[in-house]
Amino acid sequence: MDTSLKKYIRHIPDFPKQGILFYDITTLLKNKAAFKKAIDGLAKIAKGKKIDYVVSVESRGFIFGAALAYKLGAGFIPVRKKGKLPAETISADYALEYGTDSLYMHKDALKTSSRVLIVDDLLATGGTAAAVCSMARQLKSRIAGIIFLIELCGLKGREKLKDYPVYSLIQY
Ligand code: IMP
Repeated sequence: MDTSLKKYIRHIPDFPKQGILFYDITTLLKNKAAFKKAIDGLAKIAKGKKIDYVVSVESRGFIFGAALAYKLGAGFIPVRKKGKLPAETISADYALEYGTDSLYMHKDALKTSSRVLIVDDLLATGGTAAAVCSMARQLKSRIAGIIFLIELCGLKGREKLKDYPVYSLIQY
């Protein structure tokens, strides 16, 4: 847990809906020392794992996933919303903290036994990450771990991901 990064995360009440407290990471991203510390912290968690690909969800997940893939010397695979990926896709449905949707991944993104690390900015209910795991499993890859910058522990998202090692750098 890195408590020193908490001061860079801004809390916005009632966004995007009444009653939701939104954890805004833009205030962390714009601070070069905090952004570096966040990526270094995530890389430290991943240290020692053999990873072929980092898989991340648009759009905030891309920011951390791409930087981490570069640092780990791994490839990067984007998970996107409907209609964004150009080649043949697979999909999984998920329920967000607010609303429901589907996520998509290229069908040829992962090979059997590819070792993947799933990275996202925030773990709330775990629905988003569970959908990514379901697609990685459809493609028969191996999930080496799931790493989040922020975990909202009260929402128990971890329970939806109990078959995999789950890590987070900052917990609330
Ligand atoms: P979950 O599926 O309920 O775990 O929600 C996690 C997903 O929703 C992540 O991809 C986050 O980017 C997004 N999300 C949910 N709440 C917040 C928040 O407070 N700040 C930033 N992203 C959030």
